[in-house]
Amino acid sequence: MTTHLPASAPAPPAAGALRSREELKELALAGARELGESAPALDVAQWAAQSFPGTLAVACSMADAVLPHLIARVAPGVDVLFLDTGYHFPETMGTRDAVAATMDVRVVDIHPELSVAEQDARHGVDLWSRDPAACCRMRKVEPLARALEGYEAWATGVRREEAPTRTGTPLVGWDETHGIVKINPLAAWSFEELTDYAQQHGVVINPLLYDGYPSIGCAPCTRRVAPGDDPRSGRWAGFTKTECGIHL
Ligand code: SF4
Repeated sequence: MTTHLPASAPAPPAAGALRSREELKELALAGARELGESAPALDVAQWAAQSFPGTLAVACSMADAVLPHLIARVAPGVDVLFLDTGYHFPETMGTRDAVAATMDVRVVDIHPELSVAEQDARHGVDLWSRDPAACCRMRKVEPLARALEGYEAWATGVRREEAPTRTGTPLVGWDETHGIVKINPLAAWSFEELTDYAQQHGVVINPLLYDGYPSIGCAPCTRRVAPGDDPRSGRWAGFTKTECGIHL
């Protein structure tokens, strides 16, 4: 199932009122205590589904659909937020369509305020080549922040081994930026564990993942990497930037 969410619209309404920041912080602390640093991913997903019924969102870049699959096992119909930046590879859009068509989730397309053409007109063509931080802020960071306002928790596919900036990723934590609980069920997984899960469960995978792109973002800012290289070294090559700003 698919829904399209304009940048200016609130996220889909959650069932019932959202709990306060203090209550959510307490829940995050309790979850972190209960699950520790290495609980099985399915246990983390189960905790998330029980703690945030109807108020949990899953963020998915469509590099693979392992996280939506995992969460949908315990929270069928869960909202899967996809940042439709307008710059994705065709393979990524195909993966998004396959997820929407075949999985028990609701894919929510999150759009920036400006189309690519409008951004080109206002900020100059190919802003990503001159100021990727500004481009990511307008096309990813701000739209996601608006979308998350309708939820109490979000789950991400961040894994500790992906980058030096991600080695301390907890399974459950408090996301001060968005004021909600952040859950990373796959934090302890290796790339092999991810692909093994996908094979075992027949989960949709972006074909680029097996074609030299272990980390997949927008097409202009993602390059192939050599075997054995830092998986994220193909992102924003030529810039010091290593994160879009969502997972800081
Ligand atoms: S990854 Fe590149 S194209 Fe995509 S939003 Fe960021 S700077 Fe823009």
